[in-house]
Amino acid sequence: MSDCLFCKMVAGEIKPDTVYEDDEVLAFRDINPQAPTHVLVIPKIHISTPNDLQPEHAALVGKLYLAAQKVAAGDGIAARGYRTVMNCHREAGQSVFHIHLHVLGGRPMHWPPG
Ligand code: AMP
Ligand code: ZN
Repeated sequence: MSDCLFCKMVAGEIKPDTVYEDDEVLAFRDINPQAPTHVLVIPKIHISTPNDLQPEHAALVGKLYLAAQKVAAGDGIAARGYRTVMNCHREAGQSVFHIHLHVLGGRPMHWPPG
């Protein structure tokens, strides 16, 4: 999608602080980090919200989590623990409409989330 911020990152038009990349996913540091580790893992194809996921995306969603695992290991927080969050629509706080898995860690996480 030409007007999507994250698609522009995939296309190389905007350069994020990339921490992991493969054929299907890109992971980069959030510009406004909410924890010492705050990385966004995105699919390289445009999917607007979790509501738009289709059965053929099932393996791709799994790959987002496998990338999150690598990000956590790379930042040394895998054993301590970390949180993964995917917001859906505005009431959950989604502000960029290209799905992304937040990987948050490096500090204690509270529950319930705000
Ligand atoms: P959400 O609110 O769940 O849609 O998350 C969107 C995230 O994208 C927020 O945490 C923003 O800080 C982050 N973000 C927005 N613009 C950029 C950017 N140019 N580079 C990295 N992260 C960004
Ligand atoms: Zn997009």
